Parts: sequence; structure tokens; C-alpha cells
Amino acid sequence: MRKHFNDYGSWIHSKFPFKVQKISIDAGFSCPNRDGRISQRGCIYCDNRTFNPSYCNPGKGIKEQIREGKIFFGRKYPDMKYLAYFQAFTNTYAPLDDLKRLYEEALQDPDIVGLVIGTRPDCVSDELLDYLAELSHKTFLIVEYGIESANDETLKLINRGHGFKCCEETIRKTHEKGIITGGHIILGLPGEDCNESLRQAPIISSLPLNILKIHQMQVIKGTKLARMYAEHPFHLYSVEEYIELIARYIQFLRKDLVLERFVSQSPSDLLIAPKWGLKNFEFTHLLTNYLRKNGIYQGMILE
Ligand code: SF4
Repeated sequence: MRKHFNDYGSWIHSKFPFKVQKISIDAGFSCPNRDGRISQRGCIYCDNRTFNPSYCNPGKGIKEQIREGKIFFGRKYPDMKYLAYFQAFTNTYAPLDDLKRLYEEALQDPDIVGLVIGTRPDCVSDELLDYLAELSHKTFLIVEYGIESANDETLKLINRGHGFKCCEETIRKTHEKGIITGGHIILGLPGEDCNESLRQAPIISSLPLNILKIHQMQVIKGTKLARMYAEHPFHLYSVEEYIELIARYIQFLRKDLVLERFVSQSPSDLLIAPKWGLKNFEFTHLLTNYLRKNGIYQGMILE
């Protein structure tokens, strides 16, 4: 049967002869957009409580977080192997020697078969990229950048602390070093309607990314965005609207771009809106049905 999009599950399965799962790690990093180097306010939607599963706590150290993550996932699949996912805050924001120590500590666990490092595009030096390129010859490695939007006005509004040019340059450099490169965007940011997203899609597709994660805009309690939303509510997509948008968006994405996910699920006690109550796989199921019914597939506009 025809695949309607280039899904991450099949891609990662092609990379390993066994099942792999990410274990999220909070290595205790900060973020320059929160600690004052760039700003103290952070991105307006940022609440790192939404990043972390319960086993993930910097006080526990990397080894312990991996041990607990393995217990959590290993119940169902005892032969599972893992990617250590440095997820919380900015996971390249420390001196290079400290970074090496942290990444290599995770790799010491025999069940860890690779790393995924989430970061900002303005927090990677050439020296770090050289090290990561070398590391990627020894282990499976993905570096994942928060892009969020291709529109500088939006990036300013969300207090991102960098422009789109910075994303373009860093993603190109990372790709040129031969490192598997991921990107993350949010659809439905304040000020961005469906037309803006469809303007963005070919721009994102033209970046030398291997993997793309797309998330719906979510308003989380305690954030600046929550205050903005309370004062001047803006439109948040319904599930149906979002499915339609994704279906249009992916038509502009080149076929070899791996699509890792389309939604994020913040804990319901922290989420103000939209309350879809759908798990990732449930959303993917609805989306796939829609794509099938309407004969839509990734990259069809580029043919
Ligand atoms: S870059 Fe990430 S961790 Fe830093 S403020 Fe923005 S969302 Fe939060």
C-alpha cells in the first residue's frame, strides 16, 4: 500500500536490527534564553515541565535516569535498545569538555545505541560540530534544532532570541559535517495562520534536514503565552482544522524528509488549550485516514 508520508517509525527501524526507544534525559542544562545570556524571559510558550517524563530528573544523574527509563520501557520489550535523548532545555549549552563527559556517560550503558541531542541553533560552535561529527562515526547520532518558525517577526514575537537565518546556517553546517539533522517547528503560533504555514512549508523543505517534527501550538499554564491567551484569545486549531493543515503542509515537503511526529501531548494538568485528548498514535491514525481518503501524500506538489 502507498505510504502517505515518510514516517519515522519505518526509518528508524531501517537503521537498527532491533527495536529502539528514546529515553529522555534531563542532564541539568540551562538555556541562554532563560538564564539572561540572551534573555531571562524564555520563549513565550516555554515550560520545561512539559518535557520530562517522571523518570527524568537532573538530580538523579544520567546513569540513574537511563536505568529507570530502561525499567519503564523494558517491561514490554525486554530486548529493546535505547537512544539517550538529551531533551530538556538546551543540551549543548556548556563547555565542550562538560558536554563530552555527559554524552559519553550516556554511551557507557551497553543498551544505549545512540544519542539524540536537542538544542537551539545559536548554541553550537564549530568546535562542537567537529566533535559531534567525529562522535557520529562511532555511534548513531541525531542533532535536533528548534526552528519553530521561518518568519522573523514571529520569532521576535515569541521571544526566540534568534532569527531564521541562524537556523538556516547552523542546519547547513551540521548537515555538511555529515550529522543526521532534525528540526522542530510549531504550527499555529500567534500571528501565523494557515497561509503563513503554507508559505513556510517549502522553505523548511529546502533546508538540508533529515527529520522534521511538527507540533500544534499549545498553551501551557504559567507561561507568558497563557497570559497573552487570557487577555486576547487567539485561534487555536481544532483537530479537524489541524489535520487539514498538515495534509496541505506535507504536500510541499520533499519525499525523503522523515516526519517524526505531528503533535505533542503536554500533561493535561498543565495544558490550557487546545484539549484534544488524543495520543500521538491516535492522531496519526486520524491523519492517515484523511490522507488516504483524499489521495494526499508527502511531496505531491513537487512532482
Ligand atoms: S529555547 Fe527551549 S528551553 Fe530555551 S526558552 Fe526556548 S523553549 Fe525554553
